[in-house]
Amino acid sequence: MTPDAEFGYELLVCRYAELAWHPSEGSRPALVARQLGTKDRRWDTVVIEVDPAAFERRREFGDRTIDSDLLHVIRGAPAEWAFYRDALPHPGYPWRYVRQAVHRAAGRDLIEKRRDGNRIEIRRKRPYPDWVERIVAVENKPDLNRSAADRLADQLDHDVETALADEAWLATETTGERVEPALLRELPVEAGILATDFSASVDADAGSVAWHATDLAPGEGERRDPETETLRLEIAERAYGKGWRSFHETMRPDCRHFELRREGRGLVPYCAAKEKIPTARECSGSCPDFSPEPPQWRTKGWPVEGGPGKGFKRVLARRRERERDRVESVE
Ligand code: SF4
Repeated sequence: MTPDAEFGYELLVCRYAELAWHPSEGSRPALVARQLGTKDRRWDTVVIEVDPAAFERRREFGDRTIDSDLLHVIRGAPAEWAFYRDALPHPGYPWRYVRQAVHRAAGRDLIEKRRDGNRIEIRRKRPYPDWVERIVAVENKPDLNRSAADRLADQLDHDVETALADEAWLATETTGERVEPALLRELPVEAGILATDFSASVDADAGSVAWHATDLAPGEGERRDPETETLRLEIAERAYGKGWRSFHETMRPDCRHFELRREGRGLVPYCAAKEKIPTARECSGSCPDFSPEPPQWRTKGWPVEGGPGKGFKRVLARRRERERDRVESVE
């Protein structure tokens, strides 16, 4: 199929990346998420390449994202009991916020805590693993025209300059034709170009490399500064908790027109009223065609308990779980 909305295209690219990463270097275990980044730059698709053994240990910390405040506590928690202010590096903001994070971390069973008089002591349950190998940013542009190429050039330039990601790519749809060389020349040479053709199906063969990406990681003997490292870890954690199937959280799977359609080996949302893949903005509470699923769908008749809306959410959650299991087993 030819995606008729950037949002639909983005989902197909995410599914392709899940099936085919890395497009030129051969299979690598990776997690895929969408719409993540920093306050200055949001990436359409984010691929987190992982160390499978370390990823397995990360999963022992549970399925939810570990946010920046919790990361500070968990990464710094000592092997032996210690007063949290002695054990953790200075946060750069008041300690009382760290104390709150200590309680949250213990509440989620990520660390242990106890009281010694009026002091709170902490101890780690297990070391936080170094599970992130590389971070890849992908910008999706199904119809690459002159103005889109100009905008992308600026965004990709920014990615190359900050080197927050290890690689930056542009994914664009070709439907069998070559990507216009004049437009590609506008883009930074370091950015890879992935030419996709989802007209037949979405599988590992639906993309080909039109231009190889340059590795943006620091060279031998160089390191990123600790702040950038922490920022990368925060992005990876959000990717871990969110994945790319969380579109149901902002869309309306509880609408009677909402469907999940199979595209090759991917599932994408489809609106039976608009007869297309709706954008996240269209498929929202303000959609004029929204029609709630009838209550009887939720109680009887529909094969999945809780009605289609809840059923879709469960299908997507199960898929995400399966992908996490798959990532862990890829060596
Ligand atoms: S009618 Fe509106 S709310 Fe319902 S599925 Fe279509 S886009 Fe979403």
